[in-house]
Amino acid sequence: MKYNSTRNKNTVVTASQAIAQGISEEGGLFVPQSLPKYSLEEIQKLAQTDYRGRAKKIFGDFLGDFTEQEINESVDAAYTADKFGSDNPAPISYVENGSCKMAVLELWHGPTCAFKDMALQILPHLLTKSVKKTYNGKEAVILVATSGDTGKAALEGFKDVDGTKIMVFYPVNGVSPMQKRQMATQKGNNVSVAAIEGNFDDAQTGVKKIFTNAAIKQQLSDHNMLFSSANSINWGRLLPQVVYYFSAYCDLMNAGKIQAGDPINVVVPTGNFGNILASFYAMNMGLPIKKFICASNSNNVLTDFIRTGTYDRKRTFYTTISPSMDILVSSNLERLLYHLTDGNAEQVAQWMNELSAQGSYTVNAEVKARLDELFYGGCCDDENTQATISKLYREYNYLCDTHTAVAVNVYEQYVRETGDQTASVIASTASPYKFAKSVLEAVSDKALPADEFAMVDALSAQTGTEVPAPLASLKDAEVRFTFTCQVDEMPKAVLDMLSIR
Ligand SMILES: *Cc1c(COP(=O)(O)O)cnc(C)c1O
Repeated sequence: MKYNSTRNKNTVVTASQAIAQGISEEGGLFVPQSLPKYSLEEIQKLAQTDYRGRAKKIFGDFLGDFTEQEINESVDAAYTADKFGSDNPAPISYVENGSCKMAVLELWHGPTCAFKDMALQILPHLLTKSVKKTYNGKEAVILVATSGDTGKAALEGFKDVDGTKIMVFYPVNGVSPMQKRQMATQKGNNVSVAAIEGNFDDAQTGVKKIFTNAAIKQQLSDHNMLFSSANSINWGRLLPQVVYYFSAYCDLMNAGKIQAGDPINVVVPTGNFGNILASFYAMNMGLPIKKFICASNSNNVLTDFIRTGTYDRKRTFYTTISPSMDILVSSNLERLLYHLTDGNAEQVAQWMNELSAQGSYTVNAEVKARLDELFYGGCCDDENTQATISKLYREYNYLCDTHTAVAVNVYEQYVRETGDQTASVIASTASPYKFAKSVLEAVSDKALPADEFAMVDALSAQTGTEVPAPLASLKDAEVRFTFTCQVDEMPKAVLDMLSIR
């Protein structure tokens, strides 16, 4: 299995090159040249194994230049009961009452309580093996700019992984107190964290500048190191997400909720379009998915795109209570466009150029027709997000976070509009305790306590649910990183961390 670039069909790389490199030289994203196809019998066979078995089969079919042993090692190291609380890292909660039937796929049982762990726990294993194959013996230096969840998940994934160092930059006033504490207390001998005086875009631009700074690259090379990226356009982050859609289907069959071959819908709270795109790959591999329901918060650029065929990022940016979806340019959408145009790289490159030059593009009639057939787009503001959390808790005794609530709300809109009763999987992307303030506000009438940890305790007392261990232990964890720098000091911070001058 080889990979092309979404912007140049003549680019052909192996899986390990795609993962080690992250992004193609002309700016395109790596996409598989063809997809493995699973028959119903093969899906039923997957249902006979556990999550790790399912993951090994799927990774094996995509990672052409990895040995079976390398894949087994990676999967066995990533998805342990120790890290995910049980042998199934992606369990389903059935939220059912009368005609309402939702299968809530909980993707947040990992070490940082958000779904990014599903990919970032295995990426370091795939990446170190990829770097070894492509740039033998070099140490990978991972730089991350984060608005909260990715940074912590990347730190947890890469901590103490041999052959890697990781440094995370976050905007000093742009993350929640809980997220700040999660990062400031990070353990590990190869990790470093810095706040920057600026917003998320400043952090992201600063990191990109370091990546492309020839002098710094040379300094790294002199010390047998190279930069690598853990961001959500890396194929090594997308592939692990395909697994849990197959796994959810298997679990639904095993629980007798569906029969083999029955269609399902998937509902995904969407930001950068990685999670929902993984389900699109699963469908193209043979998983019977009927509709992709794409849920956005007030930053509803994708809702408009799916409804009109025009992607327009020239609009107000809203800061919402589902911050991991506060995004106006959904990078992974580029891969969907590539597949919906049957691999027309020139066309994709043109739309992406229009997006960066004019801030918008409009897809052609064929692509629009395929979007209409496969996708439903909807959005939900903060007020309705909290109303949904409250309703789900009162009527179904199920507590969900703000991102998941956006998905549930949009799913309800979809059912009202279409009457579609197909079994539906809701991707639940974070623990409610990660966004304790907004969740507590939604389910409690009492005055809010002042600090974040008191809110966590109040949420637990109010709902009788347990605080996830990784969040509970933060209160007494030692603070290791308090460093703040200016944006133009970021290169120096990186060199200091690597102890090279
Ligand atoms: C990252 C994130 C999302 C958005 O996922 P994408 O793959 O970027 O669409 C949704 N919810 C939470 C909690 C996240 O951390």
